[in-house]
Amino acid sequence: MLSSLKAELKSLANPKQAEILQRFFKTGPGEYGEGDIFLGIKVPVQRGVAKKYVGLGLPKIQELLKSEIHEERLVGLLILVDKFKKSDETIRGDIFNFYLKNTKYINNWDLVDLTAPNIVGEFLVDKKRLPLYELAESKNLWEKRISMIACFSFIRKEDFKDALRIAEILLNDSHDLIHKAVGWMLREIGKKDQDVEEKFLKKHYKNMPRTMLRYSIERFEEGKRQKYLKGYIMKVEIKKSKIHGKGVFAKKGFKKGEIVLRWNPIKLSPEESKNLTEKQKKDTISRNGEYYFMQPPEKYVNHSCEPNTLMNTDNFYDIALIDIKKRDEITSHYPNPPGKEEVCNCKSKKCGGVL
Ligand SMILES: [Zn+2]
Repeated sequence: MLSSLKAELKSLANPKQAEILQRFFKTGPGEYGEGDIFLGIKVPVQRGVAKKYVGLGLPKIQELLKSEIHEERLVGLLILVDKFKKSDETIRGDIFNFYLKNTKYINNWDLVDLTAPNIVGEFLVDKKRLPLYELAESKNLWEKRISMIACFSFIRKEDFKDALRIAEILLNDSHDLIHKAVGWMLREIGKKDQDVEEKFLKKHYKNMPRTMLRYSIERFEEGKRQKYLKGYIMKVEIKKSKIHGKGVFAKKGFKKGEIVLRWNPIKLSPEESKNLTEKQKKDTISRNGEYYFMQPPEKYVNHSCEPNTLMNTDNFYDIALIDIKKRDEITSHYPNPPGKEEVCNCKSKKCGGVL
C-alpha cells in the first residue's frame, strides 16, 4: 500500500513546479527548509491522494513522515487529519500523541498550518491546553508554530484566551515564521471580534515585531492601520466632551512642543470637493487648493479660545502649546470662516464667545 502511494506521488511529479517550491519553502543551505525535496504536486491533488489511503496505519504513516520528500510527509499528515476526523475519542488521543511525538518531521510551515488546527487544536478543544504551553516554550521552531496555529481551532469557536496567551509568550521570538504565525492568529481573532484583538494590540503593538503587527492589522481600515504603524493609536482617545459632542482626550501627558496627534485625512478629488454636504464641509480642510476630509481622531478635536495645541496644516499634526496632563481634553483654535460663526462653549477665561 505504501509503495503504491509513493509510486502514485512520483507519477504526479512536476519538475518545473518543484523548482519553484524548492525556492518558496527556503530549502537552501542554512535556510529553515534546508534539504527538503519537492516533487511539485499541488495541495488539492495531494489531498485527493491522501483520501485514498486513509486506511494506512500509524507505523506506515510514520515511514512517510520520515521521508525526505516533502509531499510524502504532507500526504502522511493529511491522511492523519482524515483519520482523526473519522475516529472516536480514543483513537483521536492516539493520533494526537503520535503527532506530537513526530514534530521533528512536521518541519515546514505548510505541514504545520494544514494539520495543527485539525489535530492538535481539535483534540484540545474540550480539554486543558497545557500541551500547547510546552510547545510554545520549545526550542524547536515548528513546535512553537504548532502551539500558535493549533489555536486556530479555538479561535473559530470564539474561544480566544489561550490563543492570546500563546501570542504573548511568542511576542519576543526572533523568527520571522513565528512573527507571521502570531500576526495571522491575531488577525483571525480580529475577524471574530476586533475589540478583543485591539485590546491585545494596544497593550503590545509598540513592542511587537513589525511583521507581526503588519499581519495582525491587515484587515483594519486604512486610517487605523496607519495609526498602528506610526504608533499613535494610544496617545489620545475619543470620549464625550463638555465643550461639544465628542472630544479628544490625552491618554498620556504631553510636553510643550510634542506632537499630540497626527492626522490621517483623506484627500478628495476635485469632483468630490465640489459635492460636499454642509455637514461634510465642517470636517473638510483645504491645503494648497486641495481638500482633505478629516478622520477620527482629528475631526473630533474641539475648538477652544485658550487651546492647548496648535494645528500644523502643512504637516497635518497637532503640537502641544503647553504641557498637557493625562485626561485633559485636546483643543485647538480654529475660527469658522466669516458668516459661519457659532456660539463658543469652550468655557475658558479668555473665551471670545464665538468661533
Ligand atoms: Zn471660547
